[in-house]
Amino acid sequence: MKVYLDHAATTPVDKEVLDAMIDFFNKKFGNASSLHSWGREAKEALEKSREKVAALINADADEIVFTGGGTESDNMAIKGIAFMHGKGHIITSKIEHPAVLETCKYLEKKGFDVTYLPVDKYGMVNPEDVEKEIRDDTILITIMHANNEIGTIEPIEEIGKIAKKNNIVFHTDAVQTVGKISIDVKKMNVDMLSISSHKIYGPKGVGALYIKRGIKIEPILHGGGHEKGLRSSTENISGIVGFAKACEIAMKKMKEDVERMKKLRDKIIKNVLEIEEAYLTGHPEKRLPNHASFYFRGIEGESLILMLDSYGIAASTGSACSSKKLQPSHVLLAIGLKPEEAHGSLRITLGRENKEEEIDYFLDVIPKVIEKLRRISPMWNK
Ligand SMILES: *Cc1c(COP(=O)(O)O)cnc(C)c1O
Repeated sequence: MKVYLDHAATTPVDKEVLDAMIDFFNKKFGNASSLHSWGREAKEALEKSREKVAALINADADEIVFTGGGTESDNMAIKGIAFMHGKGHIITSKIEHPAVLETCKYLEKKGFDVTYLPVDKYGMVNPEDVEKEIRDDTILITIMHANNEIGTIEPIEEIGKIAKKNNIVFHTDAVQTVGKISIDVKKMNVDMLSISSHKIYGPKGVGALYIKRGIKIEPILHGGGHEKGLRSSTENISGIVGFAKACEIAMKKMKEDVERMKKLRDKIIKNVLEIEEAYLTGHPEKRLPNHASFYFRGIEGESLILMLDSYGIAASTGSACSSKKLQPSHVLLAIGLKPEEAHGSLRITLGRENKEEEIDYFLDVIPKVIEKLRRISPMWNK
């Protein structure tokens, strides 16, 4: 049996998405900037797609900028505000995705000040901490909507209120939440929000940044002036059309997907926690509906992933981005785990296509694998 349980890393392209995209490679291949009918056809597809993406987050179409993915959206938002001001202070958290953290570290080298807020043992940012750190020169607050490694959903609405009250631009990386939690940029009080297509059954290399009307940012790509001058480069029409289709499907299927995934997720959590010295990471309730994350004492996460793989099961230690490095995850350290505990982490992220039989298979395999690994582990002394 082959079971894919790593949907926070990426998802398969939906069949309907693929069908929607295919003609845009060689039949409707026009450049959206061209004046002829080929160009107009592409332009029309582009603008229709913009409406669909906007609809998913309750934004208006003119507030959506298409990008090359979640990482680019995060970079565009953060550098866009930073370069607009030239100097200033940014507030973020210690558990952000590298797309945010590394961008902030880069800006520190360029002379900006950054505050990295701590989180509690569940990975929650305290809105009061955000408020306390605000200074006269604070130009941006960027806090993720839900964490990719531990699934915790942050109190974005409250943080947004604080940002609004203090007149500070607020960005959130919503790559993990779009399509899983309903998103309303107005209710959430956000000024900018990042989305990625390949996490919601769309193609890779496409994303969007919502920028509230009136918010001004400096572009990071200069050229022909596409996307209202914010993102020069000929638009990836096939990718954008696929992304928009994925958004449309996400909106339609979210309720039923979430209900089904939640049940499976809870079954996973309940059963895995029956294993000796297995612990849940992240918030027990305020977490993504498809996300279950753990650590096991006396286990080395990489070996666990490889052994699960030998049973045909795809899971992850925490995030696909950090799993190639051997340092313990910055997220797990931030929630207070010791390095050796952080090394024993496992992340299971469900998708629309997962069946109960697959979960049962995983639940049958996991205790055996843990037992096997502990038998040969020098860290396991019972
Ligand atoms: C995957 C991910 C990203 C990066 O998105 P890409 O489209 O792969 O660049 C950013 N933030 C979070 C929270 C993610 O999970």
